[in-house]
Amino acid sequence: MFLTIPDTLVTQALIDTDRTEGQIYGRLLDGGDVAQVMGFSETSGSYLGCWRRIESSTAAPKHDLSYSEGEILLLIIPGPPETITAQRRTSDAWEEVECNIVRLHADYTSRLHGIFEADHLANKRVAVIGLGSGGSVVATQLARCGVGHMRLVDFDRLEVHNIARHVCGLHDIGRYKTRAMRDLLYDISPAIQVETFELNILDDLDALGAIVSDCDLVVAATDREESKVAINRACWPRGVAAVYGAAYNRAFGGDVFRAIPPDGACYDCFQAVVTEYFGPPPAATQDFSVGYEDPTRLPDLIAEPGLGIDVGMIALLMTRVALLTLLRGSNTTLPDVESNWLLFGNRAEWIFQKPLESLFIEVERQNDCPTCQYRNYVASNLDGMSVEEAATEAQEILGSLPSMPSPLHPHP
Ligand SMILES: [Zn+2]
Repeated sequence: MFLTIPDTLVTQALIDTDRTEGQIYGRLLDGGDVAQVMGFSETSGSYLGCWRRIESSTAAPKHDLSYSEGEILLLIIPGPPETITAQRRTSDAWEEVECNIVRLHADYTSRLHGIFEADHLANKRVAVIGLGSGGSVVATQLARCGVGHMRLVDFDRLEVHNIARHVCGLHDIGRYKTRAMRDLLYDISPAIQVETFELNILDDLDALGAIVSDCDLVVAATDREESKVAINRACWPRGVAAVYGAAYNRAFGGDVFRAIPPDGACYDCFQAVVTEYFGPPPAATQDFSVGYEDPTRLPDLIAEPGLGIDVGMIALLMTRVALLTLLRGSNTTLPDVESNWLLFGNRAEWIFQKPLESLFIEVERQNDCPTCQYRNYVASNLDGMSVEEAATEAQEILGSLPSMPSPLHPHP
């Protein structure tokens, strides 16, 4: 048997002045080949046995037959890790168990040293809105990078057809994506804190505003264009940076747009001009969604059928841009992207001349944008009116914009 125990539990047992022994809980895996000690109380898993603190190895109890078959006795001795030993009771004797102390927090991020400061990310709060094949990849990769706080937003449950392109597995079918992802993130990151929201953001813009308000970054991986517009109108006035991802039809390609208030273009600016860059896509890709001809087909970007690996490429690019945004202002050897729009072609279709081609474009701010230039927008819509008409019109314009602060009382 191979036993693992977190160093934090060992420390706890060594400094606990009230008691010298207790029970250990966790899980047994692979038919008893592995025992993972996860805590000293029932909330940490199944009963595994007991721990006992002794002053030296010579004080170890011999032939204590009060234990049942299969129970583990963990002997915690002050000193280097290798002094900690464990035995497991067999039917007629005790057998030695190999102990391995896991330095969860120190070892987890040790491979990231020299690339960026994991500690810098431990204090960051990121909301991932949309947990399909794109958002689920972004959430898990950011967690592995050391992001400390995550808010997961999605109102869907996992279905069988999701699984081929999702990081969750068959045992999660029927669960809310938020909760399945939360358990996965807790399983892959020792220090992360996760909040879940089973919410359609378009049904509750106030809740959306509250979710994003104290975030360092929002990842918009929803499959509908209206959601991205709502996210933009929640994030920009609150000064929250956001990364928007889209995979095109059958994921032949995709793009990532980043908005960092108060500078540059917001997502409304992007949407207003996106068709001007390359024109509509070819017939084979009619349902490419961002701002193209038929707004009723604004649709299932990341949710569209596509090879998991193709969607994954776009999702990893989103993750990359998200990570670089979080690392702005910190010590990192990773260079930031220089433009706010990144397009990537998995295949040589539409504007992409060859497979795996990337394009970088700086989308300019629109001077009459209703979200990032609302003073200009209101002014341009009031031109030539009487004061009374203008006041009424201004109220209507502002009332039509969800999550927009009044220009008289701009959000700090
Ligand atoms: Zn704008």
